[in-house]
Amino acid sequence: MDKHSAHLQLTLVIVAFLLLAMPVRADWYADARPLMGTEVSVRLWHEDADTGRRLVEDIFAEANRIDLLMSTYKEDSRISEINRHAASAPVVAGEELLQLIQRALDVSVLTAGAFDITYDSVGQHYDFRTHQRPDAATVEAARALIDYRLVRLDVAAGTVAFAAQGVRINLGGIAKGYVVERGVTLLRAAGVQHAVVTAGGDSRLLGDRRGQPWMVGIRDPRKDGNVAMTVPLQDEAVSTSGDYERYFDEDGVRYHHIISPSTGNPASGVHSATVIGPDGVMTDALSTSVFVMGVDRGLRLIATLSGYEAIVIDDQGQIYFSDGLTPPSGAL
Ligand code: ADP
Ligand code: MG
Repeated sequence: MDKHSAHLQLTLVIVAFLLLAMPVRADWYADARPLMGTEVSVRLWHEDADTGRRLVEDIFAEANRIDLLMSTYKEDSRISEINRHAASAPVVAGEELLQLIQRALDVSVLTAGAFDITYDSVGQHYDFRTHQRPDAATVEAARALIDYRLVRLDVAAGTVAFAAQGVRINLGGIAKGYVVERGVTLLRAAGVQHAVVTAGGDSRLLGDRRGQPWMVGIRDPRKDGNVAMTVPLQDEAVSTSGDYERYFDEDGVRYHHIISPSTGNPASGVHSATVIGPDGVMTDALSTSVFVMGVDRGLRLIATLSGYEAIVIDDQGQIYFSDGLTPPSGAL
């Protein structure tokens, strides 16, 4: 073997070693985990395996951080502390929580109270796993405390106060949208161009699926596991609120987790409401709102919001589309 070919061989060995050792592999990196009482998932395209996997971890860490701050199921969350003390004295919420509560209150104004985080004075009496629900007298008494105007924010002091004893807030109708929006913001800042972050019924898409739109399935609200339709989307948020997520049936009545603030009972008339738009916090809050408002009022609200569209399935299985959507052929 001459010196030249020995050198070439050594070079080849080194190159092969480097190729094996370097984690460079453009691919999809993904995972799904139970979190926030639902499933959180992420799928992202990255050129580098180590970075791709690290970013997946970052998304779960962020979702976990937000859950610890905002979950009413955790005694030591800031929200739980607010619920315990804000009727007696202002409680420091911190800028992030204060901003999200402010956005929730803004949606209450926008929806004339259909979206209202104080729904929890009634909501707290439900346990869907054990089929527990409040009796009529409890609903009646708690209903007076469902009023977003009883929540007072002091932005300068960073505090929340309640104007009456017994008021409670719960961000269940907006926090998952915040998680997916935060997740995508984090990925975008890291240079990711193609991703989807999902928390339960809320998804935020970043870019497309490398040359093709993401295909988002909207569940058939009465056929478990079936998809009522598939919507091609990119760079959008999409949220669905349904009466099939947390519920129990009793004497032919479905008791589910979306409360109509005006009656204090689960909203009726709609089986699922999907809202598509540029911001996941808004699509989450709006899907809950449209569910409460019903087909007519809900679609009228969406028509006033530029960039937002909706798909509503009513209690007859009839599907309604907002004006900016092209219904699939055969759907009407
Ligand atoms: P999910 O994605 O969990 O199905 P939705 O976006 O439909 O959630 O929101 C339902 C959740 O919103 C409920 O579990 C509850 O925490 C909260 N919620 C229920 N009714 C209202 C309401 N009228 N306004 C604001 N939030 C509500
Ligand atoms: Mg929602």
